[in-house]
Amino acid sequence: MRINDPKLLGPLAELGIELRPAAKLSELTSLGIGGTTDLLRITKHETIPELLQLLDANHIAHKFLGGGSNLLVDDGELPWVVLQLVPPEPDVVLEGNLAHVDAAADLGRTVTFCAKHDLGGMEGLIGVPGTVGGALRMNAGAYGMQIGTYVREVKLYRAATRKIETFRGHQISFEYRHTSFATDDMMLAVILELPSKPYNEILKGIRICNEKRRSSQPLGQKSAGCIFKNPPGASAGRMIDELGLKGLSFGDARVSDRHANFFVNTGHASAKDMLALIADVRERVQEAYGVMLENEVVVWNG
Ligand SMILES: Cc1cc2nc3c(=O)[nH]c(=O)nc-3n(C[C@H](O)[C@H](O)[C@H](O)COP(=O)(O)OP(=O)(O)OC[C@H]3O[C@@H](n4cnc5c(N)ncnc54)[C@H](O)[C@@H]3O)c2cc1C
Repeated sequence: MRINDPKLLGPLAELGIELRPAAKLSELTSLGIGGTTDLLRITKHETIPELLQLLDANHIAHKFLGGGSNLLVDDGELPWVVLQLVPPEPDVVLEGNLAHVDAAADLGRTVTFCAKHDLGGMEGLIGVPGTVGGALRMNAGAYGMQIGTYVREVKLYRAATRKIETFRGHQISFEYRHTSFATDDMMLAVILELPSKPYNEILKGIRICNEKRRSSQPLGQKSAGCIFKNPPGASAGRMIDELGLKGLSFGDARVSDRHANFFVNTGHASAKDMLALIADVRERVQEAYGVMLENEVVVWNG
């Protein structure tokens, strides 16, 4: 979708929004898949209510992009624009055990910054790409921990009230790759309350998690992490592996040989290829195990 009406371009510029026309989402997602649309980059949180009002009034649909590491975006010209926050400088400020973090902050850098100041708990998240906002939205987690455990407060834009609001941690439910945020809530900032731990101890935990990832995941390849959520008490990757589906492909979309729940783009896979692979694997698992796998990857249809 293109924004080229001067009636819109003027107000966008006044709000300090940077417009990147015809952005290729294949270059902004870790899967390397996705068509083209205008990208709006937001520097000031307080401009968001007015920006969204402007888009709504002009019937322009939108989606929120973090680091693009959990997304499968459709091919071709896309019928919505994409909004992305620009991280401020600095994007993490510490106050005792509290880390005040902007949603646009890089998750890995946030974990290491806190670790260097003797704040731990998030060791498992090292190696999870993307932003802190995306991690909050997805309740990202690994190796027995999840980010939601440490959330004290979240600042977000609520589409339902058209206002920026603050929620305390206990008002939000964080479950396995699921949160009680509405789909049109935009995460803006978070306060994490982290346990004190000596840096050396945190570093040991980080190294262990890094090693586990390196030995089990196709880290050099284009992927979106796990495609499916694990069903209760089972492992999606194990089921796919047991069915001998590693290496199964549609075009350049392929079930990783290293980790059966990672689907990789080995060249120029299209969203169509990847969706066909997902549908085929889901059907085979359903037939063999009677389990309907649910997507962990977020699909943006055109
Ligand atoms: C190699 C690899 C390993 C991975 N390992 C893990 C893992 O161990 N554990 C895990 O949980 N995940 C893992 N992932 C998946 C992914 O990294 C996480 O889900 C990550 O938290 C997504 O963050 P993001 O900023 O990239 O979000 P995006 O991919 O940009 O977006 C994901 C969803 O969040 C929404 N979103 C993003 N930012 C905002 C915002 N500010 N406000 C509102 N909504 C927003 C988007 O609209 C979309 O619905 C892995 C991915 C890769 C490629």
